[in-house]
Amino acid sequence: PHKLLIVVTPTYNRAFQAYYLTRLAHTLKLVPPPFLWIVVEMGAQSLETASLLRQTGIMYRHLVCEKNLTNIKDRGTHQRNVALAHIEQHQLDGIVYFADDDNVYTLELFEELRQIRRFGTWLVGMLAHSKSRTVLEGPVCDGEKVIGWHTNEKSKRLRRFHVDMSGFAFNSTILWDPDRWHRPSLDPIRQLDTVKEGFQETTFIEQLVADESQMEGRPPGCSKVMVWHLHLETVSGLPYPSGWTMNSPLSA
Ligand code: UDP
Repeated sequence: PHKLLIVVTPTYNRAFQAYYLTRLAHTLKLVPPPFLWIVVEMGAQSLETASLLRQTGIMYRHLVCEKNLTNIKDRGTHQRNVALAHIEQHQLDGIVYFADDDNVYTLELFEELRQIRRFGTWLVGMLAHSKSRTVLEGPVCDGEKVIGWHTNEKSKRLRRFHVDMSGFAFNSTILWDPDRWHRPSLDPIRQLDTVKEGFQETTFIEQLVADESQMEGRPPGCSKVMVWHLHLETVSGLPYPSGWTMNSPLSA
């Protein structure tokens, strides 16, 4: 039987939300079961997300992160933690993958996820405006063995693992088996809350695995990009009809 895939998506209400979630839902609909989509919002469930999820036909859980945010630059971290706590509490046994709503995913990626035994990692293509960002992030591999990382001069010295949030997945059993944590004294979930932007991935991964020897590069050779991370400038304050439903004509 196939392994359960648990895809975790933090999302928030903005002009692009319906566009992103619709696109992602269409991809996820093509993933064979068993499959669970955990979607987490801040403060309350939005009507738009709730109605979209109901219509997908995908097995999902729509969770809410109640935390009162002081740091607005959180970028989904607390929401991912809510999903991790949920997975741990209900002992959902499967492969956990953080799929941000704005990325684009190949179906091949979901096939690769099912091959993961403990911790898998792969390349993520970066589509950015800014020239200072790398073109891709992720492992350099010899077969499944991770032997290095694609990186740039700036980030090389700072981060231990050069992986994007959507560039790794892991077996959920690690979450409730303290003996398997690299650093059992740390609570990974709480830890992730306090980490500086840009370091969430490496900080989290450093607690899942001791080093590269415990990682599986996917697919073997790691030469293939199976997911793209889009960095669009956020258009804030863009007026759009709530739920993309027009109740009155647009006035000139
Ligand atoms: N996100 C969220 N709340 C926020 C910011 C981001 O739920 O205040 C979600 C967003 O919907 C996406 C993920 O977190 O699924 C990553 O956000 P984004 O791509 O904007 O961050 P980046 O990785 O580009 O810094």
